[in-house]
Amino acid sequence: MSKADVSLEHLFKVFTKPENDDSTLAKIERHLSDNVSDFLSRHVVAKKTSLEEIEQDFMSHLVPDQPEFVSTHAELLLEKLVSHSVNTYSPTFIGHMTSALPYFQLSLAKLLVGLNQNLVKIETSKAFTPLERQTLGMMHNLVYNCDEAFYGEYLHSAKHSLGAFCSGGTIANITALWVARNKLLGPSRDFAGVAKVGLMAAYKHHSINNLGLICSKRGHYSLGKAVDVLGIGRNNMLKVDNSDLRLSPESVLKLGTQYQAQGNKLLAIVGIAGTTETGHVDPLDELADVAKELGTWFHVDAAWGGATLFSNTHKHILKGIERSDSVTIDAHKQMYVPVGAGMALFKNPHDANAVRHHAQYILREGSKDLGATTLEGSRNGMALTVYSSLHILGRNGYQLLIDKAISLAQTFARLINQHKHFELVTEPVLSLLTYRLRPAHLSAMGEASASQVKDINSELDKLTVSIQKQQREAGKSFVSRTRIEAPQYQGAAITVFRVVLANPLTTEQDLVNILNEQVALAEAHEIWQQLSQQVLSRIA
Ligand SMILES: *Cc1c(COP(=O)(O)O)cnc(C)c1O
Repeated sequence: MSKADVSLEHLFKVFTKPENDDSTLAKIERHLSDNVSDFLSRHVVAKKTSLEEIEQDFMSHLVPDQPEFVSTHAELLLEKLVSHSVNTYSPTFIGHMTSALPYFQLSLAKLLVGLNQNLVKIETSKAFTPLERQTLGMMHNLVYNCDEAFYGEYLHSAKHSLGAFCSGGTIANITALWVARNKLLGPSRDFAGVAKVGLMAAYKHHSINNLGLICSKRGHYSLGKAVDVLGIGRNNMLKVDNSDLRLSPESVLKLGTQYQAQGNKLLAIVGIAGTTETGHVDPLDELADVAKELGTWFHVDAAWGGATLFSNTHKHILKGIERSDSVTIDAHKQMYVPVGAGMALFKNPHDANAVRHHAQYILREGSKDLGATTLEGSRNGMALTVYSSLHILGRNGYQLLIDKAISLAQTFARLINQHKHFELVTEPVLSLLTYRLRPAHLSAMGEASASQVKDINSELDKLTVSIQKQQREAGKSFVSRTRIEAPQYQGAAITVFRVVLANPLTTEQDLVNILNEQVALAEAHEIWQQLSQQVLSRIA
């Protein structure tokens, strides 16, 4: 492979922008973007190569001594990286929350890197700071719907914050619970506050044994990380098990009352608006009542489902979210912006001050530097991607996208219900659903004994795992899989296909094809054939 000079002169060329359209750098850029477009128009995985084979291209642990020509490196990236990426733009990639993006996001990405602003501080971001604050304000309004005067007072106030822009739902959940913790154990006349003196002193001061968080068993694992880093401990994440996949307010009230009576404090109740596995939404309005009764913080993890608020048709599903103290929304999920954009929103603009941090050379008191109340330090201008999407798509555009996704999920549910070889396991509440293959001849399962059902389910679990892998490897389409406690099997855990219908370009025919592919793979599978003989005769 040809190597470039090790000279400052060569490095200067690498740093400078292309002089004209015919320059080498400009050509490389066109070549790369042409290839990305080409890649995006193909299958889910362009090449059928195992991860182990791909690892062979990434084996050396040595930093190369010699610089490489950018053009040479570009070819290498196309060959080794781009061609083995996952095409999340494909209409038949319906397994995850990462999906196709509007094409203008590519231009915004270029702008972001071109300007390379750092939002930690006004001095390195200038107009990006008010843009981010406005974006947070628009999202705050979407959730809390405060009045004109409220936003007039707080949107750009140096002493307040309507939210924290961050890299995703995980950081947003941590940020929200961090604020909740510091408020609950904040400074008072005779106590310096947990941020200064730490948890041990805070527990002593308040004479409590533990801090606990209540959420459903379907809480995202980022909540586990949050209680871990906040020093609360995973054992104090009190998970309520509910058979209908939603958090029961009665159980929360009972558990919370008990927990408090045992000398503990409740940090928060977390309601989920769109569980990661099935898209279920907890009864937020009733949970808000319970939080009030227990005197605790109410956080809503709407990382996935928050965008439903754009839809006048469906926003009622999230009723009660406006009563929460904080909300997590991931823009990189149903808001169709690139990965790396999440938000924690605070109902009360004073609350974020519980984590405000000052430093002499940076984040001076009274400045509008966003870094003073965010967990992350240096951050890029990702809020631009949200700002532009909110303008280019508009509230009505988002409504169309959300409605389309939910109606497609309902269409898919109908296709599954009508198909003799499938069983719909969870109905779509939002645009997520789960289902599995269940050969038609097993419809007699209703008459099978509990132990027979268990045996059959265990065979079907293996079948689902195997078909999901085969389909993924074939590379034409992708659905994911998970294990859930199915209400129709008395809460027994079964393995299911999981589908997220987010891509507006996915058609009903794509869905029909995906089901047909699964049936074809299943019919050739030995478990399917065994089930049709043995199990049937066992039941009979
Ligand atoms: C995706 C998701 C998260 C985590 O968000 P990241 O952006 O992956 O960090 C948290 N909660 C829910 C409900 C989610 O769907």
